[in-house]
Amino acid sequence: MSTPAKITPATLAKLAKLGVHHRSELLLHLPLRYEDETSIVTIDSLQPGETLQVQGIITHNEVAFRPRRTLVCRLQDETGELYLRFLNFYPSQQQQLAVGQAIRALGEARMGYYGMEMVHPKCRVANEATPLSTSLTPIYPTTAGLAQPILRKLILNALEVLPLNDTLPEAVVQELQLADFASSIKLLHNPSPDVSATQLEERNHAAWQRIKFDELLAQQLSMRVHHRERGKRIAPKLVAKKNLVPQLLKALPYRLTHAQQKVLSEIAHDIALGHPMQRLLLGDVGSGKTVVAALAALQAIENGYQVAFMAPTEILAEQHYLKLCEWLTPLGLTPVWLSGSLKKKDKTQAITHIADGTTQIAVGTHALFQASVEFKKLGLVIVDEQHKFGVQQRLALRSKGKAKSQPLHSSAATNNSSNPLPNPPPEMGREASPSPSQWGRAQRGGNGDGGNSHEPHQLMMSATPIPRTLAMSYYADLDVSVIDELPPGRTPIVTKLVSDARRDEVCARVLSACAAGAQVYWVCPLIEESETLELQNALETYETLRTTFPELRVGLVHGRLDNVSKAAAMADFKSGATQLLVATTVIEVGVDVPNASLMIIEHAERMGLAQLHQLRGRVGRGAAQSTCILMFQQPLSELARARLKVIFENTDGFVIAQQDLQLRGPGELLGARQSGVAMLRFADLTMDEDLLEQARSVADRLLQHHPDAARAHLQRWMANKHDYLHV
Ligand code: ADP
Ligand code: MG
Repeated sequence: MSTPAKITPATLAKLAKLGVHHRSELLLHLPLRYEDETSIVTIDSLQPGETLQVQGIITHNEVAFRPRRTLVCRLQDETGELYLRFLNFYPSQQQQLAVGQAIRALGEARMGYYGMEMVHPKCRVANEATPLSTSLTPIYPTTAGLAQPILRKLILNALEVLPLNDTLPEAVVQELQLADFASSIKLLHNPSPDVSATQLEERNHAAWQRIKFDELLAQQLSMRVHHRERGKRIAPKLVAKKNLVPQLLKALPYRLTHAQQKVLSEIAHDIALGHPMQRLLLGDVGSGKTVVAALAALQAIENGYQVAFMAPTEILAEQHYLKLCEWLTPLGLTPVWLSGSLKKKDKTQAITHIADGTTQIAVGTHALFQASVEFKKLGLVIVDEQHKFGVQQRLALRSKGKAKSQPLHSSAATNNSSNPLPNPPPEMGREASPSPSQWGRAQRGGNGDGGNSHEPHQLMMSATPIPRTLAMSYYADLDVSVIDELPPGRTPIVTKLVSDARRDEVCARVLSACAAGAQVYWVCPLIEESETLELQNALETYETLRTTFPELRVGLVHGRLDNVSKAAAMADFKSGATQLLVATTVIEVGVDVPNASLMIIEHAERMGLAQLHQLRGRVGRGAAQSTCILMFQQPLSELARARLKVIFENTDGFVIAQQDLQLRGPGELLGARQSGVAMLRFADLTMDEDLLEQARSVADRLLQHHPDAARAHLQRWMANKHDYLHV
């Protein structure tokens, strides 16, 4: 064994930038791709699209200035000529490629104006006598100032000095016919020329399979560990009391679908167990998640606990608030509304009612989780459109519950259905100061619940249908319920793709829809670069449409509107006072106006698939035939075209999400906000579904029968990622 290479502080800093903090992490710093410098081909055998190495003499060297400054050289061997082009180059490069110089060039051949060419090939001075590499050259992800050869040397050294023991039990390796860890990792860093370059590139070589499996296994292990740990923590036992829940069910104008019943019983069962539930409720747009959440809330309230119901936007939160008032006030309950923009007095009052237990359910935006808000007895947290919240908020919320939730109030539960929830009488001294001392007292209290600290249950809802593979990997620490059925009586939405040039026809369509008594959404383009521009555009669209349709009552809602105006605009649309609602994408989530049956989306090509699907889900909520017109501007990029095709051809959110995953990859799909989630570096969920399935079952097996192996494996893969483990 050789000795560990010394690493200078400057290099250490650069390695840290790459996420390599420990020598052992060098092992898992794997090549992005490989260059084949093991052979040389003749220039006449080059085919466009192939990346190969050629060797010859420079016969021409010139800097061209049109269309832009470019270094153009000509390389000649005995079979032909090849142009080498450099758009950015140093004077030293120009000198290196002087006429008469013998050069080896490696790059992707393509057909240019004057014949075969390579753009930015890798060039070095070499002649026939210069030896060829004996293995493929790994190219690592790196950072400025850390050259490939240095990185390569450090990694080769790590391979020599570090133990490469297998973390998996022999039986598992045998059974799944996996390659062993040591030879896999060595091969990937240093593949011999006979290894198939294509298999390496496409990452389906057995060595890659092993590494990808290990990565997925580590992810599953960490999530499952978290999941198991949750089973040891304490939460209130919210048992079904057959009181408020049946009352609401009876009052509803419809019956729950089978899917709604199924997920409701999953939730009801979970929150009665005394361990914190963390359940993700997935259901396509319009599948009826809100009522399920309300019923779950009632089960908590029946047990004398409070509920926090959080939504990502004011519009949505307020809509939920109104809906909950409609459902819960007849049951004698008093929901409160809390948003950052409430008047100070109203806010103080809401906060007081949350703190003294007057209210059983607080609805609002993330304002609900500010430090000044203290729940008297928080038992359940409901987060709607969970994907809109970042990992940070998910964390804050979890700890908020822990700190603020009070132990079970023995006198709170009630069976009195005429006045189901009298405010629990304050315990001695409780109302005086919600201070750490009280916390301490409560812990010693032993009031029928073990006197332990509680944390609330969490129900997270999302209409971004996450493909199964993503749910299995990124949400493996959660329990997942799926509503896979829409309420009956919906007529499918017709989707139309219309070029901007046919705006007049679209306008005619709007008029006739309104004449027939329907209502229409007009969604303004998303302008990612500038909120100001987006606002300006919405205002202009509003003015234009008002001029175009003098006979229509037109409303406007956008993110910058103050909340009173925003609420008023929504209320007017809901009541039918306005017929056409011009809106920015703020209406993307949750808005529910069943009489709206036509939606126009401008510049649909700028929006993501999930977003389009969500927007489109705002119509088709009543019995009327609904239409969504996606307007787009030519020319369309290939990706935009592919996306619009997907949304045009599919109505099932899960299919759309699956296609989105294929088009864009998981990072984008989960959203930039979710990027704190441990991203997979090597495994690819679109390709490696089988590996993921295997990793899942092996994870459970290791945790049960081989805890040491599980620990060693996590240590290798997650040693420096503790924060991810607790997300
Ligand atoms: P989402 O899952 O997108 O949040 P909502 O909860 O907003 O869906 O429900 C969409 C619409 O479906 C609402 O108008 C709601 O009243 C209605 N709805 C919910 N459940 C049912 C059901 N079982 N039968 C009929 N309509 C229902
Ligand atoms: Mg909803």
